This record gives sequence, structure tokens and C-alpha cells, in this order.
Amino acid sequence: MENINQNYIAGEWVNGESEIENINPSDTRDCIGMYAQASTVQLDRAIEAARGAQKAWARKGIEHRYKVLMAIGQELMSRSAEIGKELAREEGKPQAEGVGEVYRAGQFFTYYAAETLRQVGDTADSVRDGIEIDVRREPIGVVAIISPWNFPIATASWKIAPALAFGNAVVWKPANLTPASAVILAEIISRQDIPKGLFNLVMGSGSRVGQALIESPGINAISFTGSVPVGKGIASAAVQNLTKVQLEMGSKNALVVMDDADLDLAVTCAVGGAFGGTGQKCTASSRLIVHDKIHDAFVEKMIVATRALKVGHALEAGTQLGPVASEAQLRSNLSWLDVAAEEGCERVAGGERLELATPGYYMAPTLFIGSRNDMRVNREELFAPMACVIKTGSYEEALAQVNDTRFGLTAGIMTGSLSRATHFRRNARVGCVMVNLPTAGTDYHVPFGGRGDSSYGPREQGGYAVEFYTHVKTGYIAAGAPA
Ligand code: NAP
Ligand code: MG
Repeated sequence: MENINQNYIAGEWVNGESEIENINPSDTRDCIGMYAQASTVQLDRAIEAARGAQKAWARKGIEHRYKVLMAIGQELMSRSAEIGKELAREEGKPQAEGVGEVYRAGQFFTYYAAETLRQVGDTADSVRDGIEIDVRREPIGVVAIISPWNFPIATASWKIAPALAFGNAVVWKPANLTPASAVILAEIISRQDIPKGLFNLVMGSGSRVGQALIESPGINAISFTGSVPVGKGIASAAVQNLTKVQLEMGSKNALVVMDDADLDLAVTCAVGGAFGGTGQKCTASSRLIVHDKIHDAFVEKMIVATRALKVGHALEAGTQLGPVASEAQLRSNLSWLDVAAEEGCERVAGGERLELATPGYYMAPTLFIGSRNDMRVNREELFAPMACVIKTGSYEEALAQVNDTRFGLTAGIMTGSLSRATHFRRNARVGCVMVNLPTAGTDYHVPFGGRGDSSYGPREQGGYAVEFYTHVKTGYIAAGAPA
């Protein structure tokens, strides 16, 4: 029988109640392996083990945690070429992007390794004489982590690293579409000097293992990245147990191109933002809001740049756009093309499924013009290599269009005017704003998140992550009478 990639529960590698195949979206004849699906009994065992291990971990001290996190981070960085290739093979992003993602995952661990040492709290004088106050942070307990497939190692790492750094235990349910990356990361973590059960990998479907995990009264916090409907379900389940929750969800990011923009730079940013990662980024520039004075010139250059993108096998040299991640995603993308046409958009590039040398979920990057902000294609997150141009008459109109969405993760503006850029930075209703940069592409040492339907709960990443992964305790100490 083929080797089964196992779950890591209570410090042991174990088979599940069934297995799933992991298929390479660049070549569907390539089965990457079989991956164990945990039972809910195994999930309960993981949660229980995590509860015990968390206490031991919190007692270990910050220097120990520093060393563990640093080792994980350094291994990810030094093995980024090898692991990044496996990630690209199962997810479909070009190999270079896979390698970059693994390196970035390593940086999350080394960043939070350093954060373990930055445990300086607040002290205060009491308003009452002879009393001192000490404000400090304590671990929250067991953190349930639920991650998506589009950044299978980076997203998990920006949650696991701070969870462990601040003294918590982890039960991680990765996306079932990308289990290989999860097993690789879990294997690295499993080799560290950590209490058995501190870190658990529990693979399985979201509807079964994921749902059971978030409903468990044994967990203290849930950090989720994924879609809005699943996020809302998680929030409702969390409130039943009053479990702390943090959600990062979809978006409908806009890039504004003003009439005073550097057009070539605007095209580079729009193409990268719209089609990077095959459009499967929560920060993708799917709405291109373009000033009518430069609209035609911008569109002309966009068409050339979009058509020039090389779609191919993720592991093939020269590939700029891999396949989409799954058959379901491809079907959804193709149906959005029909919606765009029905709504009256004009397709000027792409718009078809591609048959390449290997059977895979390939699609040409697609550009629509003549779209309006109230069309469904500009309201819903598509997660496709597809962007729609919206004409705008003025900066004021553009800003109103940017903000007319229920999402609010990122927004960008291309302009030569400092005062407009400043006004935009202050008035775009989003969590991350970009000036003369693509809407996608963020750093690891500063907060990441959005507004509206894009995010719920405390921010992720950078020093801000401490808010979610810790409790605050205020201590009052009677100083006693002088001797
Ligand atoms: P998804 O369907 O919401 O799934 C996300 C994760 O939740 C997966 O691990 C999934 O498991 C699990 N899940 C599904 N149903 C669940 C349930 N009832 N209870 C608990 N867990 C459950 O999203 P996706 O298709 O993986 O990822 C694409 C979405 O993620 C997009 O909408 C994108 O915008 C969003 N995203 C957001 C960010 C951000 O930071 N804002 C970053 C990346 C992606 P299985 O899939 O394994 O069944
Ligand atoms: Mg796969």
C-alpha cells in the first residue's frame, strides 16, 4: 500500500479514519500522495493533549521558546528551495513564488522568536498609597488554527509562530487541498524540543474536522483565514463558547489609476496585483478604477501585458502564471466569465480554459472593460485571474467607488500627486493602503488585516499579534510599610 502521510497528534504520527489523494493542479496525472483524515475522536485527543502541553510550554521560559522558534524559522529558510517546489507542485503557483512563500514563512518564525524576548510589560503606581501595579500578558491557552490553500505555509506560519511564541498550544487544521505543505511544516515543528501535544496537525475536511474543532469547548481561541461564509459560521460557533476569534476573509480590492500616473508603472502594478498567484490572493487587484483621460492608453498597454503572461506548469522554468488550484475553482472562474458577459462587460484579453502539454486547471489571464462598480463581478470575490476595468471621471468619484464595497482589505492608487496620495491613504476604507504599489504584497513585521467583511477581531502579524494570542492581567501589589 502506498505510504500515507499522517497526522501529528499528541506527539505521535498517526493514520486517520480515511485518506485523500493530493493532486497536482499543473498535471492531474501526478498524485503527490495520500493524506490521512483525522477522526473527531482523534481531534478530541489532540485538543486534550494540547491543554496539558500548553502549561508545560508556558513554564519553559522565553529563552527556550526563542530557540525553538528560531530553529523552525532557520530550517524553513535554508530549505526554501526544496519545500517551495513541493508547495508549488500541490498548489500550482510558480516555483519561484512557492520558494518565496516558504522563505517568508521562515521569517515569521524568526520574527516571533525575537518577540518572545520582548516581554517588557507596564508598571504603574496605584491611585492608592502603598500599592504598585504590574500589567503583564499571559498565554491564552489552546489555539485552533484553520488555514486556506492559497498560501498554505505562510498563512499557517503567521498564526502558529505567534501562538507558540506567546506560550500557547496549537491544533492546526490546514486546507485539505494543500496537505503536503502542512505535513512538511509539521514535521519540522515535531523535531523541536517541545512538550508532546503542544503542536498538533489534524487534517480533514472543514465541514467535519474543522467544524468539530471550532465547536470544541476545549479550545480558547480560533484564528481563521478563508472565505466569508465559513468565517461567519466560525464566529457564530465561537460565540456559543465565548471563544476568542480572529477572522481574515475575502476582499474586492481596487487599484485606482489616476490621469497623472506613470502608465507603465501602473500597468506593472495592475498586472502583478490582478494576476499574481493566478488571482488567488485575498489582496488581488480585481477592480481597476481608471481615469477616463488615460483609460484607453492604459487598457491598450494592459491588454499587451496580460496577453504576454506565460501560463504554464508551476514547476516549468519561465512560467509566470500557474494553473488555478482545483477543478472546483476553475469551474467557478469560468462561470464568472459568463456572468461578466451577461452583465455587459467587454472581454479584451483571455477568457478561456487552456489545454497545455500536461492536463491541468489552466486558464488565460482575463481582462474585462466597460464594467460598473455595481455589477456582481465587482461586488463578489472571484479568486480568479480576472480583472475588471471601471471608468472613473475624477479622483472623488474613484475614491467613492473604492469605498463602495462590503469588503475592505487593501486598496491602491497610482498617482504623481502627493496630496492626492495622502488624501487617499487617509480616506480609503481599508486595512492596508498602497501608493504607487500593487494591492498585493505586504511585509511580515507590521499589522495585516482589513475592515468590513474582510476581517473580524484583532489584527494579525507584527507586534500587534500579541493582542489576540494573550490575555492581559493587571496585578496589584501592596508594597508594605517601610522597614
Ligand atoms: P474556505 O473554504 O473558507 O476554507 C478555509 C479553511 O476553512 C479550510 O481549511 C477549510 O477546510 C476550512 N473550513 C471549511 N468549512 C469549515 C467549517 N465549517 N468549519 C471550520 N473550518 C472550515 O476558503 P478557501 O477556499 O480555502 O480559501 C479561499 C478563501 O480564503 C478566499 O475567499 C480568500 O479571500 C480567503 N483568504 C483570505 C485571506 C486573508 O488574509 N484575508 C488570505 C488568504 C485567503 P477544507 O477546505 O479543507 O475543507
Ligand atoms: Mg493538491
